[in-house]
Amino acid sequence: MAHDKLLGIYWDSGKPALHTRQHDQPGLALGTGIYLSLGLSGVRHCIGYYDEALDTRQNCQDNREMEAGRESQCIRCQHDGGTFAAKSGIADSLRGNQLLSAQHDVYLALFGKDVVKVGVTRSSRREVRLLEQAAHASIIIASGDGEAARVLERQIHTQAGLPETIKLATKLEKLTTVATPDEANRILLETTELVRSQVASTLPSLDTDFTYHFPRYDVRLPSDLTSLRYIDRLDDEAVVSGRLVGALGRCLLLHNGVDEKVYALDSVLIEGYEADTQLQQNQAIESRVTGVHAKHIDLYQQGSLF
Ligand SMILES: [Zn+2]
Repeated sequence: MAHDKLLGIYWDSGKPALHTRQHDQPGLALGTGIYLSLGLSGVRHCIGYYDEALDTRQNCQDNREMEAGRESQCIRCQHDGGTFAAKSGIADSLRGNQLLSAQHDVYLALFGKDVVKVGVTRSSRREVRLLEQAAHASIIIASGDGEAARVLERQIHTQAGLPETIKLATKLEKLTTVATPDEANRILLETTELVRSQVASTLPSLDTDFTYHFPRYDVRLPSDLTSLRYIDRLDDEAVVSGRLVGALGRCLLLHNGVDEKVYALDSVLIEGYEADTQLQQNQAIESRVTGVHAKHIDLYQQGSLF
């Protein structure tokens, strides 16, 4: 069996795909219902970076070796990709400067019925960015250059108290309390009003642009499921396999036919590894989970009183 380098789960095409080997090759489509098996080999290298100016993902020039954990980019790729500039709003290079001068949107993203975060995305990447974050719904509240958008995001965070990041564990807990499109629109409009009453915006207000994303994740959990196994660490030679029951942004939900549990696998844990990769559309692959360290996450039960 051949080893493929796993580059990660991305939504560049508007659908979830597992990129392997080279970023310029089409990824493996991750549709709900497929059977997937990943067997890590213990060997891990940098996954390269996303070049915003060219709108393409680039491979790591040094193919630098990486340790286990949540960081899958070498220092050089973090800088080449403008990750530093995008995260901090500080242009530390000409490239970073170019990135920040592009048009950006300030958005509010909804998870479940009661978690709203503020964020900034380059306008051209908006849809992909929101899908990769697994937002259930979103609304755009302002646009401007990258620096102005970051300033407004910070003000909304400090003055209106909205978080800038939501933990994956929280997103998973919200899987069974999804707002309807009407509810989501109402919650996001109300939050927008609240934000506008508390933050003096330095960017022009827009007609709010609402999008309902949740059906895109195609989540089909077993109806009697009460909890998830959230994988927070993998051994170097871990094996994870099962039937895909949804792709929540960059996190795969895999149903294990042996223990009847659903495992949540975050892309960052597998990125960069050489792995035996099997993907079957119709034919079952034997479920196997070894070398996996997972936490228990309770799901809210529809119809329960508390
Ligand atoms: Zn690199």
